[in-house]
Amino acid sequence: TTILAIESSCDETSASVCCDGKILSNYIANQKVHEQYGGVVPELASRAHMQNIVPVVDVALKQAGISIDNIDAFAFTQSPGLIGSLLVGSQFAKSLAFARAKPLIAVHHMQAHVLANLIPDEKPSFPFLCLTVSGGHTQIVVANSSFDLKVIGETLDDAAGEAFDKSAKLLGLPYPGGPLIDKYAKDGNPSRFTFAEPQIPGLDFSFSGLKTSILYFLQKEVKNNENFVAENLADLCASIQERIITILLKKLKKAALQTGITQLCIAGGVSANSSLRKAFAEMCEQNNWKSFIPPFEYCTDNAAMIAITAYYKFLHGDSTPLSVSASARASWE
Ligand code: ATP
Ligand code: MG
Ligand code: FE
Repeated sequence: TTILAIESSCDETSASVCCDGKILSNYIANQKVHEQYGGVVPELASRAHMQNIVPVVDVALKQAGISIDNIDAFAFTQSPGLIGSLLVGSQFAKSLAFARAKPLIAVHHMQAHVLANLIPDEKPSFPFLCLTVSGGHTQIVVANSSFDLKVIGETLDDAAGEAFDKSAKLLGLPYPGGPLIDKYAKDGNPSRFTFAEPQIPGLDFSFSGLKTSILYFLQKEVKNNENFVAENLADLCASIQERIITILLKKLKKAALQTGITQLCIAGGVSANSSLRKAFAEMCEQNNWKSFIPPFEYCTDNAAMIAITAYYKFLHGDSTPLSVSASARASWE
């Protein structure tokens, strides 16, 4: 079974070809236009998707060495995301499925982030736990099978990626700041500054308080020394990153102990963070849990994760009627 998948939920236009669960290509076009605005501008994102979609699909097919005549099903990200962006990918996939009279498979972006863990040869076995940390979501998911995924914990306010990006903004770093915090933190001392840890019951998260405590802390320090941020950038990045990671891993550990599940994964853009990857692997090793981390290109938004999810849906007999529409927010199921 050969599937062509399209991802266009936010500001990456991506296409991937997957054959029997093996990824043959995963081409991603990043949109540069948003950098100058310090965040993704929805209208500009949908326009860029329209410009990118044809060449991106073309490249994905060429890199896979597959002709469009040999595609058995067309998959796309149906939800959640920016509606204008989702519409470009969904209409494109629907048109292809209609014109070629092949099945259409709608994929939920957050399920796809989780199932990106099924791409590498060494895969977790079911049931597994996944900490999904991205720009818009922070979730702990139990995967009982490829089509039985349950959210057992999530953020009550900001996502982990937002915590990185908003903290970076307070430090004067450009958007998206997450990768820059990661980079500067490498030369910093993570225990130099301590930021308050939110006290949230159960398996849920909260990150909005962290941002406020960083803001007040910086305001106070800058009053005494206007160069405070520049002089302490590495230590600030390392300390902020350390706090975000301890919040995340504490809840993941709690979830593992509560469920007794011993196969643990991370997913989403923030799972590209080098310290998180390291701390996650260490935590799993200490507890005799098996850890899985997708390669970088499958952590941030990409169509390969849409393709792999669609492949398992196809095996399960799931296809989607052409009347389906994209949705900015749709329930998990
Ligand atoms: P969602 O999947 O919730 O709809 P999204 O698709 O926009 O959101 P992703 O592309 O999965 O999110 O992730 C983007 C986020 O990952 C951004 O907040 C970015 O700062 C963060 N990020 C990427 N690389 C790193 C890194 N190395 N360290 C920390 N954060 C990172
Ligand atoms: Mg993005
Ligand atoms: Fe995403």
